[in-house]
Amino acid sequence: MRELIPVLTADEIHLLVKKIAQQISADYRDRELALVAVLKGSFIFLADLIRQMTIPVKIDFLQAGSYGAGMASSGTVRLVKDIALDIRGKDVLLVEDIVDTGLTVYRILDHLRSFQPRSLKLCALIDKRERRETDVSIGYGGHVTEKGFLVGYGLDYAEDYRHLPGIYHLKL
Ligand code: 5GP
Ligand code: MG
Repeated sequence: MRELIPVLTADEIHLLVKKIAQQISADYRDRELALVAVLKGSFIFLADLIRQMTIPVKIDFLQAGSYGAGMASSGTVRLVKDIALDIRGKDVLLVEDIVDTGLTVYRILDHLRSFQPRSLKLCALIDKRERRETDVSIGYGGHVTEKGFLVGYGLDYAEDYRHLPGIYHLKL
């Protein structure tokens, strides 16, 4: 039977997101910031993040595939949907739900760099460290965890659980 073990409540997430939003707002004041979020998992995080920010931003999405419907990363990262926003010369922040091996964001950062942004940093709500295979640096991070498969607040398991307001550890 599937079991959902609470990791972060909606209130705890709200505070984490608020803290990140305040840091970003201070660091990018008077700059032209573009937030590029990774579909689909980070759509709720992005929506909450920009509404707690106090500076104007432009947003776009891209989609990468590696997980399929399961829990284990396939290791190869495909770019499924690219951005349309012109980010050349802009300050760009990649917004990701969770960094696990780091292969996905590593590949995406590489891709975004090819558009020659003025600056490029990574913002991730969850930093899951045990299986990290790359040395990506998370400029703005929320919750650090060692392991476990998390769902809720945009994160899915086979497209289920994205709607949950909190984040849970899924045990199958
Ligand atoms: P990475 O390439 O860092 O191994 O994996 C990144 C992607 O895998 C994330 O964008 C996310 O979609 C998915 N992923 C990694 N860990 C988890 C997890 O604990 N729960 C869910 N739902 N997705 C995860
Ligand atoms: Mg993802």
